[in-house]
Amino acid sequence: MNQETITTARQIGFFGGSFNPIHNGHIALARSLLEAAGLDEVWFVVSPQNPFKQNSDLLDDAARMAMVTAALEGEPRLKPCGVELTMPRPSYTWHTLCRLRSEHPGLQFTLLIGGDNWERFDRWYHSADILATCRIVVYPRRAQGCGGPIDAGSLPAGVTMADTPLIDISSTEVRRRVAEGLPIDTLVPPAVAAMISKQGWYAANADACRGNRS
Ligand code: ATP
Repeated sequence: MNQETITTARQIGFFGGSFNPIHNGHIALARSLLEAAGLDEVWFVVSPQNPFKQNSDLLDDAARMAMVTAALEGEPRLKPCGVELTMPRPSYTWHTLCRLRSEHPGLQFTLLIGGDNWERFDRWYHSADILATCRIVVYPRRAQGCGGPIDAGSLPAGVTMADTPLIDISSTEVRRRVAEGLPIDTLVPPAVAAMISKQGWYAANADACRGNRS
């Protein structure tokens, strides 16, 4: 495929995550990837709860999707995407990409992944098929373990490194601050802070608040 063919389709960045909750780091990263990766839009693909993994901190799918939707209002090129919430679980990126391609044949998807995930990419389900059919853009993400920076020269064809800033925010930190009663206004969009506060999500005594509270 030559460069001209690639650029005729609308370019969509596939940005998957649990978004528990979405924070300003996700949004700043997506904004800079629009330019760094030459994308028309970035879709925030909310991953569902995994029935085989118990994570008591993880809010239910509807709650996380609602926060992503609220956070991205007024961001015309950043879109919430709930497709995985309707698919069989556990969800695999390969299946999601296949579904998105069949639902949106006019769009071209680029997988956006952090350097930490890239180090484990060869263990992903159908990783070779993803690599063969999808452009991948790896953005810098502080390594959780001992891994260092990725050597751009070692990346296979179709995979590029994006030069995006490191933003020192994580969902873990947001949840910890809420549980400790500390403010999160500089870490998440105002609409998200308001929802978390109103629903009592992530509060230390919030066992009864997982998911919806009317
Ligand atoms: P948690 O702290 O719960 O592990 P998280 O903040 O890493 O969550 P995820 O929902 O896992 O958020 O994020 C989706 C993707 O966004 C991840 O693959 C991660 O690489 C990336 N990401 C999250 N926060 C940042 C950040 N501050 N800068 C760059 N990338 C980020």
